[in-house]
Amino acid sequence: MDREQKTIEDLGEFGFIRSIMKGCLHSPEGVIQGIGDDCAVLGPHNGKALLFTTDLLIEDRHFLLAKTSPFELGWKAIAVNLSDIAAMGGRANHAFVSLAIPSRTGVAFLNGLYDGMKDLCHRFGANLLGGDTSSSPGGLFINVAVMGEIAVEAVLYRKGASPGDLIYVTGSLGGSAAGLKLLKGVLSGPEELRKSLVALHNRPEPRLLAGRLIAESRAASAMIDVSDGLLADLNHICEASHAGARIFMEQLPVSRELAFLCRDQKMDPRELALHGGEDYELLFTVPREKRQIIEGVMEEKGVCPITRVGEMTKGKGIRVVNKDGVEEEWVSEGFDHFRS
Ligand code: ADP
Ligand code: MG
Repeated sequence: MDREQKTIEDLGEFGFIRSIMKGCLHSPEGVIQGIGDDCAVLGPHNGKALLFTTDLLIEDRHFLLAKTSPFELGWKAIAVNLSDIAAMGGRANHAFVSLAIPSRTGVAFLNGLYDGMKDLCHRFGANLLGGDTSSSPGGLFINVAVMGEIAVEAVLYRKGASPGDLIYVTGSLGGSAAGLKLLKGVLSGPEELRKSLVALHNRPEPRLLAGRLIAESRAASAMIDVSDGLLADLNHICEASHAGARIFMEQLPVSRELAFLCRDQKMDPRELALHGGEDYELLFTVPREKRQIIEGVMEEKGVCPITRVGEMTKGKGIRVVNKDGVEEEWVSEGFDHFRS
């Protein structure tokens, strides 16, 4: 196809990012990691690496105003950025917020939005240091950028995994996707279940403490946060590390609430755990000989549970092993802004 006639839909989100990478670095000194990981990594400065990340949330694309409170929306806008800092193992220091606001937006709404942002920043000791404000001809746009830091030798990249490494995930998976289905009315369930699963979607907890512990243990080899879905995000580790992976479906951690809901609806919660996005858990790899170290540290500190869900393999691609031991190759259909 003629390059001039191609659209972003033809390239896809990740094809587009790859296509703009060339010619971006004009002063490479001081840049440890540019485009291609959860954060850019700069430095070192006095042994520390600086982390920088930004994420954009758009009305009706990332959130539905009718289905979230302003507080939750502000919280989530910060949370998705803190999650990218967590994915490198860092601590979050400073946040910047830029808004494009439709003219008829209520002041009470905006105050609520900032209450949510400040609450989450406060919990992790991050400052809100600036941003930009514009009117919007369309919906509400929220862009947040966050800076963080970490000891330079402790940073965990997507590219560090090797064949044979074990694959772990924090917490449980699939809850946020179930929450979204409940919000949209695609699924229904008892009020208590609904509340806790919807909260996972609207108010995710960034795993900053767990991320730091994992990085400081020096037992992990690669890490990413689960924003697009377990398999889609594992695929980023595989591609960056030039390796493949095998995931054991039966080992995927699902919450009691999700298991309950799925039993009612005759659904397999592990399907949501494999493909559902926005859990903001951490997915990381550990060389086999360091298994005891990571499991010991995480158990001792009790920040959150971790579960071993698979192993890195030689070659390319991800294979999913079902409960009968049958392996199937996964074909990428992860979330892509221009293809879903
Ligand atoms: P995440 O899901 O962790 O936020 P993304 O998949 O959004 O990561 O981004 C992957 C990489 O591509 C990151 O390094 C990000 O900074 C970079 N990136 C994404 N969009 C753009 C863009 N429009 N221009 C330059 N870099 C981009
Ligand atoms: Mg990420």
